[in-house]
Amino acid sequence: MKEKFKKYIHSKTTKVVLTIFVLGIFLDLLFPLPNLKQYSEQILSNDGTLLTAYLTADDKWRMKTNIDNVSPELVKAIIEKEDSWFYWHIGINPVSIVRALYSNIISGKRVSGASTISMQVVRLLEPKERTYLNKILEMFRAVQLELHYSKKEILEIYLSLLPFGGNIEGVESASYIYFNKPPKQLSLAQAILLASIPNDPNSRRLDQNNEDVKVARDYWINYFKENHTFSEKNLDDALEEPVEFNRYAVPVLAPHFSYYIKEHSNGDVIKTNLNLRIQKTAENLLYNHVQRVNPKGVTNGAVLIIDNKNSSVVGYCGSADFYDAVSSGQVNGVVAVRSPGSTLKAPLYAYAFDEGTITPKTRLLDIPTDFHGYEPENYDLKFYGNVTTEFALRNSLNIPAVRLLQEIRLENFINLLEKNGFSEISDHKKELGLSLILGGCGVTLEELTRMFSAFARNGELHPLAYTKDDLEDKSKVQVFSKASSYLIAEILSGFNRNDIADLSNYSQLPKFAWKTGTSYGKRDAWAIGFNPDYTIGVWMGNFDGKGSPYLSGAEIAVPLLFDLFNSIDYKPEKKWFSKPEDIIKRKVCAESGLLPNKYCSKLVTDYAIKKSSNNTICNIHQPVYVNLKETVQYCTECLPSNGYKKVVYPVYDPELTVWYTENNYNFIKPPPHNPKCQAKFTADGPRILSPSEDYEYLLEENSGQEIMLLAASDSKAKFQYWYVNDKFYKKCKPGDKVFLKPGRDKLKITCLDDKGRDESVRINVKYY
Ligand SMILES: [Zn+2]
Ligand SMILES: [Zn+2]
Repeated sequence: MKEKFKKYIHSKTTKVVLTIFVLGIFLDLLFPLPNLKQYSEQILSNDGTLLTAYLTADDKWRMKTNIDNVSPELVKAIIEKEDSWFYWHIGINPVSIVRALYSNIISGKRVSGASTISMQVVRLLEPKERTYLNKILEMFRAVQLELHYSKKEILEIYLSLLPFGGNIEGVESASYIYFNKPPKQLSLAQAILLASIPNDPNSRRLDQNNEDVKVARDYWINYFKENHTFSEKNLDDALEEPVEFNRYAVPVLAPHFSYYIKEHSNGDVIKTNLNLRIQKTAENLLYNHVQRVNPKGVTNGAVLIIDNKNSSVVGYCGSADFYDAVSSGQVNGVVAVRSPGSTLKAPLYAYAFDEGTITPKTRLLDIPTDFHGYEPENYDLKFYGNVTTEFALRNSLNIPAVRLLQEIRLENFINLLEKNGFSEISDHKKELGLSLILGGCGVTLEELTRMFSAFARNGELHPLAYTKDDLEDKSKVQVFSKASSYLIAEILSGFNRNDIADLSNYSQLPKFAWKTGTSYGKRDAWAIGFNPDYTIGVWMGNFDGKGSPYLSGAEIAVPLLFDLFNSIDYKPEKKWFSKPEDIIKRKVCAESGLLPNKYCSKLVTDYAIKKSSNNTICNIHQPVYVNLKETVQYCTECLPSNGYKKVVYPVYDPELTVWYTENNYNFIKPPPHNPKCQAKFTADGPRILSPSEDYEYLLEENSGQEIMLLAASDSKAKFQYWYVNDKFYKKCKPGDKVFLKPGRDKLKITCLDDKGRDESVRINVKYY
C-alpha cells in the first residue's frame, strides 16, 4: 500500500499538477486580489424599500447590488451583451481570446477586447493601462477571482461597479438616479438602455440630453431581436418607448432614523425594521401637529414607535421637519437629553408595588411637605390631602411621589433607572436628589420609550431592535415584575384624569395606558403610551430650550399621542394584558387602603401582589372611650367607672390632622383627651414637621428672618411645649405655628407634649 502510494506520488503528471497547485497558492498569497471598493451605505425599511443611501468617501454613488433585486431582463441583457459564456468559463474564455487575436491581427489594430465579465471586474477593481502584458495579468487575476468568488458574487460585484457617468456606479445607483425606481421595476427598454451606458458612460449619461443614447439603445434592442434574447413583441414595444433624460435625487426617507442607523451599524446594505406605513403616518401627524401648536410657541417634536412584539423600532421622527433650519429640524429629538418632567413616576410606583410598599388603594399624603428645604408643589398648585396611590399616579401628584421616593430611597430608584439604561442619570447620579422624580435629571425619548415598552412586555426590558440583525439579540433584563407592570398599565389606562385628549375626536380609540410629563419652566412636554401592540413616545418642545406657557404634556403632547394610537393601532376589538396569576383581589379599608380591622366599616376591592404586597392592618379606625356626649376622651388610666361608651373614630396621621385643621376641613376626629388625666404616654409623641432635621438655614444678616416651628400630635395631646437648646421657649396648641429668631449657634429644637412625649431635631444656622 505504502509502496503503491509512493509510486503514485512520484508519477510525473502528479508532480506537475502538484507543482502548479502549490505555485498557485503561493502566487495567490503573494499577490492577493485587490480589495473590493467601498460601497455607498444603503438603509432599507422592513420591506426592503431604500430609505436612503450615502455617498462613499470618494464621493461616488456606488450602491451594492443584490442580484435578486434587479430585473432579470437587465441581468440577461448585460450577460448576453458582454459575456454570454459567463456561467461556463473560469474567468477567461479561450474561444473569444483566439477570435480576438485573429481579428486584431487581420485588422492590425485592437478591435475586440475579448474581456469576460470576470476580467472586466478585475479592471474595475484595479484599473491599468491597456497593454498586452496587462491583459495577460488581467486573465490571471480573472481566474484568481473565479477561485475566490462564486459566479453570483462576481456578477454582483460587476453590477455594482459598472460606470454610468459622473459619480454614478452600479445598476442600483443608476436605476434610482436615472429612473427614480429600484432596479427590479425597470421596463425592458430601460433595462436595455442601462445595459448600453457602461460602454461609453460619459457621453451616454441620462442626466444630459443626448441623441446617441437612443441610437445605442435601439442598436441593442435590434441586436437582441436578432439573437432572440427576448420576445420579439416586447422588444418592438421597447423600441416605441421614449427615452427620458433625468437626474433624480437618491431617496431620503426617515432622515433622522437613517442617519442614526448609519452611525450605529455597519454594512453596505442595512436592513432595518422601520415600517414605512407607520413612519409616514407618524411624520404627517407630527408635522401637522407642530403646525397647529406653533402659534403657542412650540416649534418642534419627536416621536418614537416601538412594536412590542419584538421591541423593533417601527417609527422614528427626530423632528417635525428635517429640512426646516429655522426650528433646527436637523437636531434629533429622539436622542436629545431633556428633562423628563413627571414621566419617571411610573417606574417609581412600579418599584414601590414590587417592594410591597403600596398597592393601588394605599393612601398617600398630598399635603405641603418640607424635604430638607425642598418644598415641591403640585402642577395645579392645589393639595389633595389623603389620596389613593392610583389617584396620585393617574393625576401625577408631586408630593406623594417625592414622599414615596424618600421612603423607597433615592439610591434604590437610581439603581432601577440604571438598570433601565438611563445613561445621563447614571453619569450624574451623585448630583441627583429627590427632585429627580419631578424631572430634575436628564433622559432621552429613546430611553423613556424603551423603558415604558418594558411595562408592555411583562416587565422585561429588551434592547431596541433597529435592524434585522438586532432581532437576533435575545438579551433582556427583568426591570419590573409582571404583576407591577400590569398594575401600572391598569392605573394609567383610566380615562378619569386631567391629562386626557378631547375624546369626541375619536370613535374607536384603541385602549392604551399613558403617562405625561411637563418639565420645569415648561420646556418639555411628554406623553408616553403603551398597549400590548405598541409603545409610543412623544416629545414636544423647542430645540433652543425655550419654554412656553402653553407647553404641558396634557395640552401639547397628549393629543398627538392619541392621534398616533388612533391611526396606527386602529382596530375595533380591544385586546389588553391578561391579569398575572400572582395578582390577587382583596378587600381593604376604604379610608386607609390597608387590610381591614374589625372596626373598619367601609371596604373596597384592591389589587395586591401575592408574596410582595404588605399586609399592614388599618391603623385609622380605632375604638375610643368617650363620655356619653362624645366630648371627652378617656384612656384606661382615667376611664371613669360609669358614664362612658366605646366609639370607633378615624384617627388620622397627625400630619394630616394638622393640615385638615389648617385648611378648615370638616373631618371627624375623637374628642380631646380628658383634661384631668394624669397618665404619661410614650408612644406616638409629637412629630416635628418644621424645621427639618439636619437642615442648614441660610439667613440674611439683620433681616429679622424667622424659623417656623410646627409639630403634629395625636388627639391625646392638648398642648405642645417648645424648647430651644433645652430651654423652654413657648407653649402652643397642637398644630399652631411658632416662630423663632435664631442665634448663630447650632440649635437643638424639642417639642414636648402634655403627655410627656417629645421629639428633637438639630439644625444649623448660617448668615450671609
Ligand atoms: Zn379602616
Ligand atoms: Zn387619660
